[in-house]
Amino acid sequence: MPLPDEALSVEGGCNCGAVRYRVAIPALAERPLHPLAPAETPVPLPFLVLDHCNDCRRATGSLLPAWLCAPIEMASVSLVQASSATLAPKAAAREGQAKELGGAWTPAADIFTPAPTGTDHFLKNYESSHERWRWFCARCGTSIAYTAVMPAGFPNMLDITMGSVDRRHLETNALVPERHLWWDYGIDWIRRLATEGYGALPIHPDYRIADTVKRPNLS
Ligand SMILES: [Zn+2]
Repeated sequence: MPLPDEALSVEGGCNCGAVRYRVAIPALAERPLHPLAPAETPVPLPFLVLDHCNDCRRATGSLLPAWLCAPIEMASVSLVQASSATLAPKAAAREGQAKELGGAWTPAADIFTPAPTGTDHFLKNYESSHERWRWFCARCGTSIAYTAVMPAGFPNMLDITMGSVDRRHLETNALVPERHLWWDYGIDWIRRLATEGYGALPIHPDYRIADTVKRPNLS
């Protein structure tokens, strides 16, 4: 399901609140197009994907990572100052701009780079393969994003883990993965789970497996 046509702002961050991001997505007419999409079926950016590749599965710790793939110019970050931070805050402090010391909104392009502007924060990276970087919170371990030196013709991108997007955005149905990438590299039962849904799995309301839930009709 593609993004809504209207402009929208999407926020998210890591589980401890040290890393927050915001993606200001313009209205459809102002979005750049994916350079590899066929002209007759243009794909505006950002786009939302499920990813079956081996590297991203392991790097995110998710069997089927989902990405919000955005031109990096649309994104900004708010980072807690690491030298002044102590324990991870509780969940109540996670929403909005980083609440601890530091935290001014900064263009993501200045931070998600091998030589970032300032390093007194918890957003760290490692180069998982040549000119490809995984970004994570070094305080709580949340996988945040992926960047790469892009091929000619592509805008610089920030691929954000959809699991780190604030729940309030996910609940709106505005952010629903619209396609599968790296299908040829997938694992059969994960591909089946991702395309056929629940199958016959029993469903439990929480961790108590003595309780079961009637199979829902979800929109
Ligand atoms: Zn964190």
